[in-house]
Amino acid sequence: VAEVVSHGGAGEVTGSCHLVSHGNTRLLLDCGMHQGGDAISRMRQEKFAFRPASIDAVVLSHAHLDHSGLLPRLVREGFRGVIYCTEATRNLLAIMLEDAANIYFRDIESLNKRRKRSGRRLEKPRYDMDDVLKVLRQCRPLAYDAWNEIVGGMRVRLRDAGHILGSAVVELRLREGDGEKALVYSGDLGNRESLLLPEPALPERADVLLMESTYGNRDHRPLADTLVELEEIIDKAAREGGSILMPAFAVGRTQELLFHLGVLHHQGRLDGWQIFLDSPMAIEVTRVYDAWLDAFDDQEQAILNHYGARSLEAFLPGLKLTASAEQSMQINRLDNRVIIIAGSGMCTGGRIRHHFKHRIWRENTHVVFAGFQARGTLGRRLVDGEPYIRMFGERFVVRARIHTLGGFSAHAARSELRQWAAAVPGEPLVRLVHGEPEALETMRDCLEADGLRAEVAIPGEVRVF
Ligand SMILES: [Zn+2]
Repeated sequence: VAEVVSHGGAGEVTGSCHLVSHGNTRLLLDCGMHQGGDAISRMRQEKFAFRPASIDAVVLSHAHLDHSGLLPRLVREGFRGVIYCTEATRNLLAIMLEDAANIYFRDIESLNKRRKRSGRRLEKPRYDMDDVLKVLRQCRPLAYDAWNEIVGGMRVRLRDAGHILGSAVVELRLREGDGEKALVYSGDLGNRESLLLPEPALPERADVLLMESTYGNRDHRPLADTLVELEEIIDKAAREGGSILMPAFAVGRTQELLFHLGVLHHQGRLDGWQIFLDSPMAIEVTRVYDAWLDAFDDQEQAILNHYGARSLEAFLPGLKLTASAEQSMQINRLDNRVIIIAGSGMCTGGRIRHHFKHRIWRENTHVVFAGFQARGTLGRRLVDGEPYIRMFGERFVVRARIHTLGGFSAHAARSELRQWAAAVPGEPLVRLVHGEPEALETMRDCLEADGLRAEVAIPGEVRVF
């Protein structure tokens, strides 16, 4: 028998962490961090419900921090095993973890400066850069589609999830008597319509399927409509002499937005616009994407080839990469026809907040959200229509127009999740994770209506299969 416990990413969309126990082997699927709040308080709140030293191996579905962010803590607290992931995931992980660590250490440093002056106890970091490097050394890259023997007689195979570069659906086989039990973890499943990456692949079979349900209760608008909406926003902002802010995840969404903007550029719809990629991390990640151009969907490769572009940057000439803080601040002086792509995706930190400071109170500013906004984040408050926001100890009135373009989502929506689950051979029991309660319950009802067995995972509940 196998035991599965979801310690994070159950009843919520962040902090994915599922523990699989089989015989004496303990395997972790993802080791993610929760989003919302500042880096220090988040790190204080995170606690493992298991002993990291007792974990034999980790399989990492993809590099997003809500799936990978606690790996340095896991190593710090005693994990010595192998972390299995794709090669592209390891490339991205290096950027993501170092960036998160730098933000965390910088916050601790400034907190401790104040504490020192006031004679209070200093905050101790819960991990250091050495732990980040250990994580990267413990990663063992696996190619897509091949079976690999891992610990305790388990076999694992990664299939392209089409969510971000390197993302994987994890197929796990556990030996049971003469046969094998098939446990599949979807990780995050890509939006079939989204650009650059192929659609999510199917596992060979599953007895148990841990499946994400971020958008379990709604469908996205078709991508074509979303693109029309984006064009309308751009035209409107142009007429108003305004600017467009795009809070975007450095990994995935940013590169897709660059591609869409590239298409608009080649249609002559961006004349007179200045476009900034204002995020050192997103700039680095875009270079990783460019290095993996061959992993892109055939259709997008064909478009890039048609324009002779060997990189996303080359596809959007005139794109300005503002890596330094000085370059970023210079953008503040421009106000007519400016598009700024900056992180973080949910506005919990990063340069987007500085751009809000300069523009959110102006009527001719348009904020375009292209990704899911989790509860408790600044992005979610804006999407929910709050008239005022607080940042940097100051209150700001929200006069900017807020747009949500669901068609750009990197996640499969309700109908796609249903179809994908129904297409998995083996009549699996579907256990739903990575969603807010309404989404999970709706998805369960949908799957049951389709004749599948489905249940919603409860955090910390031990489920035996
Ligand atoms: Zn993700």
